[in-house]
Amino acid sequence: MNDQLSKLFEFVEENKERYIDELTEFLKIPSVSADSSYRKETRKAGEWLENKLKELNVDTRMYETPGHPIVFGSLEQNPNLRTLLIYGHYDVQPPDPLDEWKSPPFSPVIEDGFVYARGASDDKGQLFAYIKALEACVKNGVEIPINLKFLFEGEEEIGSPNLQRFLQENLDILKANAVSISDGHQFAPGIPAITYGLRGLAYFELEVTGPKSDLHSGGFGGLVMNPIHALTIILNRLKDENDKILIDEFYADVLEPDEEEKKLIAELPFDEAGLKELLGTDVLFGEKGYTPLERKTIRPTLDVNGIWGGYQGEGAKTVIPAKAGAKISMRLVPNQTRERINKLFLEYINKVTPPGVKVYVKTLHGANPVLIDRKLPAMKAAVKALEMGFGKKPVFIREGGSIPVVNMFAEICSIKPILLMGFGRPDDNIHGPNERFDLDDFIKGIKTAISLFFCL
Ligand SMILES: [Zn+2]
Repeated sequence: MNDQLSKLFEFVEENKERYIDELTEFLKIPSVSADSSYRKETRKAGEWLENKLKELNVDTRMYETPGHPIVFGSLEQNPNLRTLLIYGHYDVQPPDPLDEWKSPPFSPVIEDGFVYARGASDDKGQLFAYIKALEACVKNGVEIPINLKFLFEGEEEIGSPNLQRFLQENLDILKANAVSISDGHQFAPGIPAITYGLRGLAYFELEVTGPKSDLHSGGFGGLVMNPIHALTIILNRLKDENDKILIDEFYADVLEPDEEEKKLIAELPFDEAGLKELLGTDVLFGEKGYTPLERKTIRPTLDVNGIWGGYQGEGAKTVIPAKAGAKISMRLVPNQTRERINKLFLEYINKVTPPGVKVYVKTLHGANPVLIDRKLPAMKAAVKALEMGFGKKPVFIREGGSIPVVNMFAEICSIKPILLMGFGRPDDNIHGPNERFDLDDFIKGIKTAISLFFCL
């Protein structure tokens, strides 16, 4: 490590207590975006960040949206330098159920090296690490060799309804060579990770209709196709007993992992017994021929998420229902696309629908899968930065879910290297009661951010 960095790291160590005090102040602001009674407080959290950036000479302004404002800041030293865009969100999840919190969610408490408060890990603590990284450089008169841009939104927890439009309308100010998102967690405590792949989603609702009204099964049984039976026939043909999806050409675009990637996955520490215990199951089940970690990250899946139809009340009712329905979602992997899967799904449903019923398919939300090239120079810089900040080489992982913001940066801003480096821990209880953030991870996050400024 060079002298400059050791000096900055030393400064971080010396200022730990103050950082924690400031984070505590931030965590006291109840910026619950989902609840309109917290509208003022949510804004206040944005203003608090705006001030923090302004104090560090970042050219900052708040952009109003129909919902909560977006804080944008730019520290452009030289247009010829590379630019890092830092994304975070200052809104938090509602704290309910309140009675399960050991201390009030907006009165941060420090215990056993953790700070307990709503938003501690998701995402206030993680985004604040970047601001403190910049502060360390500014206060020590150390010139950062890149330009920095900050984008903090206040609506991530409600699905970022206004971010897409903001990005589309402000493409010129958002130009960057890489975007860094620290709104997640390490692979396991003490094992930092870089997420380079996310699965996409295609979500549908099926409605199967038969006779025009509910019928008496004595008077009409034997004359019509029962929509519930028709639905089960359809559902049964979606997958075989080995969990292979039977939709025609469903796997045609699936990118097979190369040997290096297979090895990366195989080398990840995976605690099968612990996972079974966590899930309360004796058997992990999924597509034959793949390991559990492969199945949940690099393989597509299909699940029925809900099902309804017929009489559900007490006792017996001899009825043939007029309709039945189900919700079905698929997790997609590179290079599948929502568009193509939508088409294949519709065609297949038509093919397997038995006579005597009609099926109406409604397309609900979705997202395309994301894959970030591990060999990009910015990814190598992220590896180095995490290694310096956490003192341990990060692992590369792919996640089973989607992060809509990542799709937006990739699809709207065309920024290729998206660095997903979570500073939190998997057991930080984000979205749940007693959310916490390890204060060591906070400090390591600040060091990682500083290192990233110099490695990128
Ligand atoms: Zn978050």
